Amino acid sequence: MGTLIMKFGGTSVGSAAAICATAQIVQAARPVWPQVVVVASALSGVTDLLLKGAQTAADGDAHTFRSIAQDLRAKHFSVLSDLIKPPEQASVARATVEVYVGEFESLCHAVNVLGEASPRALDAISSLGERLSVQLIAAQLKAIGVAAEPIEASELVVTDGHFQTANPIETLTRAKTRGRLLPLLAKGVTPVVTGFIGATQDGVITTLGRGGSDFSAAILGVALDADEVWIWTDVDGVMTTDPRIDPAAQTLSALTFREISELAYYGAKVLHPKTIRPVVERGIALWIKNTFNPKYPGTQIVRDNGHVTGRPIHGGVKAVAVIRGQTMITVEGRGMLGVPGVAARTFGAVARTHTSVSLISQASSEQSICFTVPDSLTSSVIAAVQEEFRRELADRDIDAVTALEQVVIVTVVGAGMRHTPGISGRVFGALGAERINIIAIAQGSSECSISLIVDQQDADAAVRAIHRLIVNP
Ligand code: ASP
Ligand code: MG
Repeated sequence: MGTLIMKFGGTSVGSAAAICATAQIVQAARPVWPQVVVVASALSGVTDLLLKGAQTAADGDAHTFRSIAQDLRAKHFSVLSDLIKPPEQASVARATVEVYVGEFESLCHAVNVLGEASPRALDAISSLGERLSVQLIAAQLKAIGVAAEPIEASELVVTDGHFQTANPIETLTRAKTRGRLLPLLAKGVTPVVTGFIGATQDGVITTLGRGGSDFSAAILGVALDADEVWIWTDVDGVMTTDPRIDPAAQTLSALTFREISELAYYGAKVLHPKTIRPVVERGIALWIKNTFNPKYPGTQIVRDNGHVTGRPIHGGVKAVAVIRGQTMITVEGRGMLGVPGVAARTFGAVARTHTSVSLISQASSEQSICFTVPDSLTSSVIAAVQEEFRRELADRDIDAVTALEQVVIVTVVGAGMRHTPGISGRVFGALGAERINIIAIAQGSSECSISLIVDQQDADAAVRAIHRLIVNP
C-alpha cells in the first residue's frame, strides 16, 4: 500500500459534524496508508454564494455581496468554534478566514465598480470557497493529532488560461505537484489540498469548472502515481436508478468506465467521465464512498475490460437513468432516400446553434432522421435546419421538419448486455406490459446502452418498469 488520495465533497465538509467525520476518516486511513492526500471542496453552498455575490455586484447591486460576506464569515467562524477548543488553537485559521472574506469583498467591490465580472474575476472569486474550507479541515486534523497542512492547488495544478473551465497541463502539473507534496508526504504530513482550482503558468488563479474537485483528485492521483483515489460523498455509491423514482434502487458494487460515462451523459448524478478516465486508464483503483456511512464499501469504477466483482446482475442490465426536458426533432421526406449528405447537413446546421444532440436515430428506409435536443433550444434548432434545407423543402424532397415536445430519454446501461441476447426484447416487453408507448429507440454500437424516447408523462413509470428487471429479475 502506498499513496491514497481522498476527495471530500461539499456535503462531507458542510458542517462541523461533517468535518469531524471527515477528519476521523482521514485519521483511520493514516496507519494503513503511508501517504495520504486530502482534496476538498468548498463547504456546501459556498461556491454558489460566492458566484451570487459576483453576479449581483456586476449587475450594479452594491449590498448583496456585503451581506454574503457576513454570512460567509459567520458560517466559517461558527464551524471553527464548534470544532476547535480552546478557540486560541484556531487563531491562524480564523485570521485566514478573515483575509479571504476580505478578499471576496474587495474583488466584488471592483466588479461592482467596473459593472462587469470577467471569467478571470469569477475564478478569483469562486476559488475562495476551497481556500477557506481547507483551513478548517487542516485545523480539525491537527486538533485530533493528525499532522496536516492546508495547500492551495494553485501551487500544484498548472492550467491553460481558459478561465472557468481550465485544462491542466500534465507535465508541468506533475513536476510542481511532486516538488511540493512529496517532501511533506515523506515527513508523514497529510496535505489538505483545495479542489476545483489551479493557476496558469504566470500564477493567475483558474478553476476547472463547477463540480471540478473530483477532477482535481484525479489530476493529483495521476501526478503522484497514487494507488487509489476515493471520492467521498453523501450517498453509498452509484445506484441502479434514482431512488426518488424507485425506492427499491440499490447501490452497485462495481461499474465499468464506459457504463459510468453513459450514466453521466444521460443525467445520472455521478462522476464526470473527464475525472475518471485518466485514473482508470492508469490502473488506479477508483472508489465512490459515503462519508456518513464509512463502513459501507461503496462503488468501484473499473476499466472496461476490468474484472468486475460483486453481485452478478441479471441479464447484464445494471442501471436505468432518465434525461428530461427533451424535444424530438424529425427531418422527413421521400426525397431523402439514397441522397448522401442529408445527415451531415442536418447535424451541421444543429452544430451551428451550439446545441449538443443527445440521441440520434435513423430508420433504415432512410426516409427520416430523428434526434433530440433540450426543450429550450427547439426553436433555434428547427430554424437552423429549415434554413439549411430551404431548397429541398421548397422542392418537396424534404416534406417537413417537425418537433415533438415534452419527451424524455430513458437509458438502460450495462456492459454485459453485449453478451446477453434478448435484452431489448425484455425491456420492450416490460414497457409494453405497462402500456407505455416507445416513440424512438437508439442503441449505441458499444451495446453498452439502449436509449428510448417516451412521453414525459410516462417517464417515471418507464424507469420503474425497467428497473424491476434489474432488482427482481
Ligand atoms: N466547489 C466547487 C463547486 O461547487 C467545486 C466542487 O464542489 O467540486 O462547483
Ligand atoms: Mg460541490
